[in-house]
Amino acid sequence: MKIGLIGLGIMGKPMAKNILKAGYDLTVSDLNRANVEEVVACGAKTAGNREIGEGCDVVLTMLPNSPHVKSVMLGEDGVAASMKPGATFIDMSSINPVASKEIYAVLQEKGIEMLDAPVSGGEPKAIDGSLSFMVGGKQEVFNRFKPLLETMGASVVRCGDVGAGNTTKLANQIIVACNIQALAEALTLAQKAGVDPQLVFEAIKGGLAGSTVMNAKAPMMLEGNDKPGFKIDLHIKDLNNALDCAHSVGAPVPMTAEVQEILQWMHNHEGGQKDHSAIAQYYEHLTDIRIGR
Ligand code: NAD
Repeated sequence: MKIGLIGLGIMGKPMAKNILKAGYDLTVSDLNRANVEEVVACGAKTAGNREIGEGCDVVLTMLPNSPHVKSVMLGEDGVAASMKPGATFIDMSSINPVASKEIYAVLQEKGIEMLDAPVSGGEPKAIDGSLSFMVGGKQEVFNRFKPLLETMGASVVRCGDVGAGNTTKLANQIIVACNIQALAEALTLAQKAGVDPQLVFEAIKGGLAGSTVMNAKAPMMLEGNDKPGFKIDLHIKDLNNALDCAHSVGAPVPMTAEVQEILQWMHNHEGGQKDHSAIAQYYEHLTDIRIGR
């Protein structure tokens, strides 16, 4: 099976390396030459979009957002134009599920199948191949490509038809953002009330309020560490997609709207490239404290 992968950023590069480690024939491309060369040095080939479409049985993308995926697939010189009927497109980017469905509608007319398969886990799990995939698409297509996705992920779950993967990812991103906001608000309250937020974290992390988000992000807030694992600007992108999708299906999402405004404030205050746990800095600004310090 010949595989193409377009998009070798923070996530796509280690994912490509894991596909190569599993012994697949891989051809890659990205606008960033240095990233392409790094993956070619690990055994991949490189080619332009047209050649990738022509020569590959399955084309994967790991790009920033809906417009990038639409332009790479369906734009002028897009990959879809040269893909053969019977080939498959798997988009692993986090994009608007409405866009996933639009892309699939065009591909279906050409006899091309599709999965939308965004991931959760970030760069560390992309490197060690333990990402969580949430997948939309036909059961039969999912079954065929599950082993390929398992070269990059520890969990690969089908959530429904095309669009369901990205809808699940939006749900994931809402839960993560609102958890971070609640954590920042609670630790700020504790400190303002004279209780050490480090001890609050220690006391509650094993109880009902404890969570993966709390374990990952409370230490960062307490240390004032805003080095990005997941950047605020990417979370703004995801919540814009969540709001857009929510409005199109008639689901009010007031918590998402509120945390999105806080992320936007962070973006406006040079926080766009900081880790999303830096939502804490908004609360520090409101209260004139430094959490844990
Ligand atoms: P990134 O910005 O590091 O990488 C995107 C890559 O796409 C870049 O290398 C860029 O050069 C390339 N690119 C952009 N337009 C292109 C085009 N037209 N043709 C070819 N290449 C093009 O982003 P990332 O962090 O790797 O994220 C990729 C996707 O994965 C996003 O949708 C993101 O939301 C999602 N995601 C990221 C993380 C994370 O922790 N970084 C976690 C889960 C999901």
